[in-house]
Amino acid sequence: MKIAFPHMGHIWVPLKTLFDKAGVECVVPPPTSRRTLTLGAKYSPEWMCMPYKVNLGNYMEALEAGADTLLGVAGPGLCRLGQYARTHETALRELGYDFEMLTFDWQEAQIVGLVKFIKRLFPNRSWPTVIGDVKFGVTQQLFLLDDLEKLTHKLRPREVRRGAVTKVWRTVPDRICAAHSPGDLNRAKKEILAEFDAVELDREREVLRVGVLGEFFMAIEPFCNLDLEEELGRLGVEVTRGAWLSDWAKIWLFLEALGISHGQKVKKAAAPYLSRDVSGDAVQSVGETVLHSQEGFDGIVHLQPFTCMPEIVAQNLLPKVSREHNIPVLCVILDEQMGKAGLQTRLEAFVDLMRRNRVRRQRARKAS
Ligand code: SF4
Repeated sequence: MKIAFPHMGHIWVPLKTLFDKAGVECVVPPPTSRRTLTLGAKYSPEWMCMPYKVNLGNYMEALEAGADTLLGVAGPGLCRLGQYARTHETALRELGYDFEMLTFDWQEAQIVGLVKFIKRLFPNRSWPTVIGDVKFGVTQQLFLLDDLEKLTHKLRPREVRRGAVTKVWRTVPDRICAAHSPGDLNRAKKEILAEFDAVELDREREVLRVGVLGEFFMAIEPFCNLDLEEELGRLGVEVTRGAWLSDWAKIWLFLEALGISHGQKVKKAAAPYLSRDVSGDAVQSVGETVLHSQEGFDGIVHLQPFTCMPEIVAQNLLPKVSREHNIPVLCVILDEQMGKAGLQTRLEAFVDLMRRNRVRRQRARKAS
């Protein structure tokens, strides 16, 4: 079996580690690129959202690289994502690919199905070993990756030499992936932190603070958002992103129920604008905009894939939220027609607007 899965942020790191440790050959598709999107878009209806097209391209690139088994997840939900594994399978078969699709559907399978699914993937591994490997991948590798990426958001707008933080960051996922034990991971973490520490910073530089909100997949895939976080960092903006795989994992690990996640606070903040649930991402876009305005953020960038149902709801509410909470919101709609130059111009204009707002606020404070 040569197993592959589509990309979604850094999820490939714990998955590859899990399969490597179990001795299952794993084909990680090439990082999502213009080619991936072009392939996916070519064989998708135009109105499908970008995650569908990108993941179809990921599957095609994985099959071209020799994969014979594809992983997918299915299930109900408030967007179309739960149906994508099945539609991807149909599209790939029509294109003539020969493969086995392993799809896990939580709603259909429940806990008994999950047990069977895991046993099918790792027939020769004991349960304690599989649980230990999953725990290592999620709570150590994935959590560390997210912590280090959050650090880049703080460092990037303050770096003296442009690109120094990104240069270190680009090496991080491979190094974390190569660390298969807690000891190796600790060593890698120390080395990476030492490299970030060596980046020269201007700690006095005044930076703007921006929340990057919107659709989960777009927020965590730099190709899909046109490296927006790097670009904002270059413009002297500290980014606080709303979507993290580690937060998502915490919900699945039931830490939300222990009050560790602040999801309930976000729902409460969104409640005056959204009286019913239209998926977590839309609630988060609205609720976090309210909370960020209370925390003194300078602005919000809202990421929305073209035709994304939940984010269309959020997009229509955000002008009102922006007015009532006095926080500028830049809506960025993403699809295969997007271009970096156009986004850069919009970001520069947005940063300019936020700087002028900040100066106005500072003057008003001094005058009062
Ligand atoms: S949330 Fe939107 S973009 Fe994401 S999978 Fe669902 S419909 Fe597509």
